[in-house]
Amino acid sequence: MSEAGSLRIAGCHYPAGSAAGQAAELHVSADGALRLEPGGRALGHWRGLRVPERLGRAPRVLGLGDGGGFETGDNAAVDACERRFRGRVAGGRLHALEGRWTIAWLALAGLGFSIFAGFVWGIPALAARVAPWLPASVVVGSSEETLASLDRHVLRPSRLPAARCEALEATRARLAARAGLSGGRLECRRGGAFGANAFALPSGLVVITDEFVELGGDDDELAGVLAHEVAHVEYRHGLRQALQGSLLTLGAALLTGDLANAGSFIAHLPVVLAGLHYSRDFEREADARGAALMRAEGRDPRALARALARLEGAARQKERPAAPAWLSDHPDTQERIARIEALAR
Ligand SMILES: [Zn+2]
Repeated sequence: MSEAGSLRIAGCHYPAGSAAGQAAELHVSADGALRLEPGGRALGHWRGLRVPERLGRAPRVLGLGDGGGFETGDNAAVDACERRFRGRVAGGRLHALEGRWTIAWLALAGLGFSIFAGFVWGIPALAARVAPWLPASVVVGSSEETLASLDRHVLRPSRLPAARCEALEATRARLAARAGLSGGRLECRRGGAFGANAFALPSGLVVITDEFVELGGDDDELAGVLAHEVAHVEYRHGLRQALQGSLLTLGAALLTGDLANAGSFIAHLPVVLAGLHYSRDFEREADARGAALMRAEGRDPRALARALARLEGAARQKERPAAPAWLSDHPDTQERIARIEALAR
């Protein structure tokens, strides 16, 4: 709509003190002089206009020098005149800000995805990387603290003959050495609510309950269970799971702004360790590695499968109601038995 550098801006003219507008055009000459059409009334220079900040595509009412107003949706023309006669950057602050909302929403969507990806992939990966760097004092300390807490609340002193527990410890020590692990020990306990159970803490401390030993499995079966637990220690499964839990707690605290509670996340570590519900992947790894350790020891790698079958059989009998404990931490027993048998072939 320009002729020789002049501009015509279509809109609606509101005379001073009148709410009734009429269609009009604002003619802007090449040097910025204004004329209202129809009528041809001179309205001074562009620089005499009050031009509100642009808000997206919303029409603006330009304040005329005579107290009237000129409403137009031709923001491009208004911005061009502002640039030409007042040296303003197109749009102005608010428009630029509004433009940034698009970027802000995109950034927010990106952040949302990052957080999701972080939870799903990043935290397990981070936990796996951090786990080897945790100081031994922290690993041993939190493991001992966990056992002490379990001793206070759930476990009771073992009633097994001392020689039986010592023999199991000797087996564990051989398997751990085979896995290249130093430290660690076996503790026998009456399981109480834990029933027939065996679990490893990150320091290499393995606990087996009297109830498990009393299920009647032979030495190879118990060795298979210990090999499985040693594998959990070797792969740092407990530590990684605990770190994942802590990082999730910390992440959730950061997201919700509940930082006051985030400080205590490390304090929850022993509690998380006591949870010890391994992921299915961790169980498969421990089964496979346990079978390999058994084979390396010259023992039957299928012994763990037999122990699992025995546990499951016991779990079905009402007279051993506590038996499912180890199974509940080790789901899909039949699938695991089949996998171990296949590995051992
Ligand atoms: Zn396990």
